[in-house]
Amino acid sequence: MNCLQQCVKTTQENAYAHHIQRLMVLGNFAMLAGINPKEVAEWYLIVYIDAYEWVELPNVMGMALFADGGIFASKPYAASGSYINKMSNYCKQCHYQVNQKQGDQACPLNYLYWNFLLKNKKKLSKNQRMSMIYRTLEKFTPERLKEIQTDSRKFLRQLAINEK
Ligand code: SF4
Repeated sequence: MNCLQQCVKTTQENAYAHHIQRLMVLGNFAMLAGINPKEVAEWYLIVYIDAYEWVELPNVMGMALFADGGIFASKPYAASGSYINKMSNYCKQCHYQVNQKQGDQACPLNYLYWNFLLKNKKKLSKNQRMSMIYRTLEKFTPERLKEIQTDSRKFLRQLAINEK
C-alpha cells in the first residue's frame, strides 16, 4: 500500500506528516482495519514531534479514529481508495489497483471501507450524515456483501488482525 508506505516514510524521516496524511491515510486505515485505538494513539504520540496529549486526544481518538463514538466528530472520517487517489498521486505507484473493488489486486481500502460500514451499521446508520451512504449499501447484492467480508477477512488475517 503505497499511501501507507509514503506516509510512514515521511513520518520516520521527519517526525512530521501533513494533517491529511495523518487523518485520511494513516488514521483512516487504522480505523477501517479495526486496530486498537489506544495503541494507535500511543503510536502518534511517539512518532510525531508536535504530538501533545491535549492535541492528540481529540484529533486522533476523536477525529481520526472515531473512538469516542462521535463526541468530537459528527461522523467517521472513513474513505475508500478513490478519495486517496483524488487527493494524492500515491495510487499510480501502488501494488494495488485503486479502481478495482474486489479480489487480490483491489485496493484494500475499497473493501475495508464497506466492511467498516457493515460492521458498524447498528451504530452508524441512524446518523443523518451517513444516511446516503447506507442507502447505497442497502442496494448491494448479498454476493457483493459476501465478497467484501471475505476480501476484508483475508487481508486483515495477513496483517494478523483478527476481526471480532
Ligand atoms: S491503490 Fe489503495 S492502497 Fe494503493 S495507494 Fe491508492 S489508496 Fe493506497
